[in-house]
Amino acid sequence: MSAAGQRAEVLIRSLREQGQRVTTGRRAIIEVVAANADLSAEEIVGFVQRDHPEVHSSTVYRTLETLEEAGLVRHLHLGHGPARWQLAADPSYRLACEGCGTVQLVPRVRFDEVRRQVQAEFGFAVAFQHFAMTGRCSACQ
Ligand SMILES: [Zn+2]
Ligand SMILES: [Zn+2]
Repeated sequence: MSAAGQRAEVLIRSLREQGQRVTTGRRAIIEVVAANADLSAEEIVGFVQRDHPEVHSSTVYRTLETLEEAGLVRHLHLGHGPARWQLAADPSYRLACEGCGTVQLVPRVRFDEVRRQVQAEFGFAVAFQHFAMTGRCSACQ
Protein backbone atom coordinates (compact mmCIF):
# COMPACT_ATOMS: atom_id res chain seq x y z
CA MET A 1 0.00 0.00 0.00
CA SER A 2 1.22 3.53 -0.79
CA ALA A 3 2.27 5.92 1.98
CA ALA A 4 -0.85 7.98 1.29
CA GLY A 5 -2.98 4.84 1.49
CA GLN A 6 -1.45 3.99 4.86
CA ARG A 7 -2.06 7.52 6.17
CA ALA A 8 -5.69 7.22 5.03
CA GLU A 9 -6.12 3.88 6.82
CA VAL A 10 -4.82 5.39 10.08
CA LEU A 11 -7.43 8.15 9.83
CA ILE A 12 -10.23 5.75 8.96
CA ARG A 13 -9.32 3.61 11.95
CA SER A 14 -9.40 6.54 14.37
CA LEU A 15 -12.70 7.72 12.89
CA ARG A 16 -14.14 4.29 13.73
CA GLU A 17 -12.58 4.39 17.19
CA GLN A 18 -14.40 7.67 17.79
CA GLY A 19 -17.65 5.86 17.01
CA GLN A 20 -18.11 7.63 13.66
CA ARG A 21 -19.49 5.88 10.61
CA VAL A 22 -17.11 5.41 7.68
CA THR A 23 -19.26 5.98 4.61
CA THR A 24 -18.04 5.71 1.02
CA GLY A 25 -17.98 9.50 0.83
CA ARG A 26 -15.98 9.91 4.02
CA ARG A 27 -13.50 7.26 2.93
CA ALA A 28 -13.07 8.91 -0.49
CA ILE A 29 -12.50 12.35 1.05
CA ILE A 30 -9.93 11.00 3.51
CA GLU A 31 -8.08 9.25 0.68
CA VAL A 32 -7.99 12.44 -1.40
CA VAL A 33 -6.69 14.60 1.48
CA ALA A 34 -4.13 11.95 2.47
CA ALA A 35 -2.81 11.81 -1.11
CA ASN A 36 -2.91 15.57 -1.90
CA ALA A 37 -2.18 18.19 0.74
CA ASP A 38 -3.46 21.76 0.44
CA LEU A 39 -6.41 21.29 -1.91
CA SER A 40 -9.41 23.61 -1.58
CA ALA A 41 -12.75 22.04 -0.70
CA GLU A 42 -13.86 22.65 -4.28
CA GLU A 43 -10.83 20.77 -5.62
CA ILE A 44 -11.53 17.92 -3.19
CA VAL A 45 -15.10 17.75 -4.52
CA GLY A 46 -13.64 17.39 -8.03
CA PHE A 47 -11.36 14.51 -7.03
CA VAL A 48 -14.05 12.71 -5.03
CA GLN A 49 -16.69 13.01 -7.74
CA ARG A 50 -14.34 11.57 -10.34
CA ASP A 51 -14.76 8.14 -8.70
CA HIS A 52 -17.96 8.79 -6.75
CA PRO A 53 -20.23 11.14 -8.72
CA GLU A 54 -23.04 10.37 -6.28
CA VAL A 55 -21.25 12.16 -3.41
CA HIS A 56 -22.77 15.64 -3.27
CA SER A 57 -20.54 18.67 -2.81
CA SER A 58 -22.42 19.66 0.37
CA THR A 59 -21.50 16.24 1.81
CA VAL A 60 -17.85 16.94 1.11
CA TYR A 61 -17.99 20.35 2.83
CA ARG A 62 -19.82 18.91 5.83
CA THR A 63 -17.47 15.93 6.06
CA LEU A 64 -14.38 18.14 6.05
CA GLU A 65 -15.84 19.98 9.06
CA THR A 66 -16.64 16.70 10.81
CA LEU A 67 -13.12 15.41 10.19
CA GLU A 68 -11.67 18.70 11.46
CA GLU A 69 -13.76 18.49 14.64
CA ALA A 70 -12.51 14.91 15.06
CA GLY A 71 -8.94 16.28 14.90
CA LEU A 72 -8.04 14.30 11.78
CA VAL A 73 -7.76 17.05 9.16
CA ARG A 74 -7.44 20.82 9.42
CA HIS A 75 -7.71 23.82 7.17
CA LEU A 76 -5.04 26.39 6.52
CA HIS A 77 -4.75 29.64 4.58
CA LEU A 78 -1.99 29.97 2.01
CA GLY A 79 -3.05 33.44 0.90
CA HIS A 80 -6.20 35.33 0.01
CA GLY A 81 -7.91 32.41 -1.74
CA PRO A 82 -10.10 29.67 -0.29
CA ALA A 83 -8.97 27.63 2.72
CA ARG A 84 -6.86 24.54 2.00
CA TRP A 85 -7.09 21.16 3.67
CA GLN A 86 -4.39 18.88 5.00
CA LEU A 87 -4.01 16.03 7.47
CA ALA A 88 -3.80 17.22 11.07
CA ALA A 89 -0.61 15.15 11.32
CA ASP A 90 1.02 17.00 8.39
CA PRO A 91 4.65 17.41 9.49
CA SER A 92 5.35 20.69 7.67
CA TYR A 93 4.59 24.38 7.82
CA ARG A 94 4.19 26.45 4.66
CA LEU A 95 6.27 29.33 3.31
CA ALA A 96 4.21 31.07 0.62
CA CYS A 97 5.95 33.45 -1.80
CA GLU A 98 4.02 36.70 -2.36
CA GLY A 99 5.82 37.14 -5.67
CA CYS A 100 5.26 33.89 -7.56
CA GLY A 101 2.92 31.95 -5.27
CA THR A 102 5.35 29.08 -4.76
CA VAL A 103 4.75 27.20 -1.52
CA GLN A 104 7.70 25.60 0.27
CA LEU A 105 7.39 23.08 3.08
CA VAL A 106 9.46 23.43 6.25
CA PRO A 107 9.55 20.68 8.89
CA ARG A 108 7.58 21.80 11.96
CA VAL A 109 10.51 21.00 14.26
CA ARG A 110 12.45 23.90 12.71
CA PHE A 111 10.10 26.27 14.54
CA ASP A 112 10.21 24.52 17.92
CA GLU A 113 12.70 27.00 19.35
CA VAL A 114 10.75 30.08 18.16
CA ARG A 115 7.54 28.61 19.50
CA ARG A 116 9.15 27.92 22.89
CA GLN A 117 10.65 31.41 23.13
CA VAL A 118 7.42 33.22 22.20
CA GLN A 119 5.52 31.07 24.70
CA ALA A 120 8.06 31.78 27.46
CA GLU A 121 8.41 35.51 26.83
CA PHE A 122 4.89 36.50 25.76
CA GLY A 123 2.75 33.62 27.04
CA PHE A 124 1.44 33.17 23.51
CA ALA A 125 1.00 29.85 21.71
CA VAL A 126 1.65 30.52 18.01
CA ALA A 127 -0.39 28.42 15.56
CA PHE A 128 2.04 28.31 12.64
CA GLN A 129 -0.09 25.64 10.98
CA HIS A 130 -3.17 27.87 10.54
CA PHE A 131 -1.60 30.30 8.06
CA ALA A 132 1.32 30.07 5.70
CA MET A 133 4.21 32.38 6.52
CA THR A 134 4.43 34.87 3.67
CA GLY A 135 7.50 36.46 2.15
CA ARG A 136 9.68 36.19 -0.94
CA CYS A 137 11.36 33.07 -2.28
CA SER A 138 15.00 33.19 -3.36
CA ALA A 139 14.05 33.65 -7.02
CA CYS A 140 11.76 36.62 -6.27
CA GLN A 141 14.06 38.47 -3.85
ZN1 LIG B 1 -8.92 29.52 9.36
ZN1 LIG C 1 8.71 33.59 -5.57
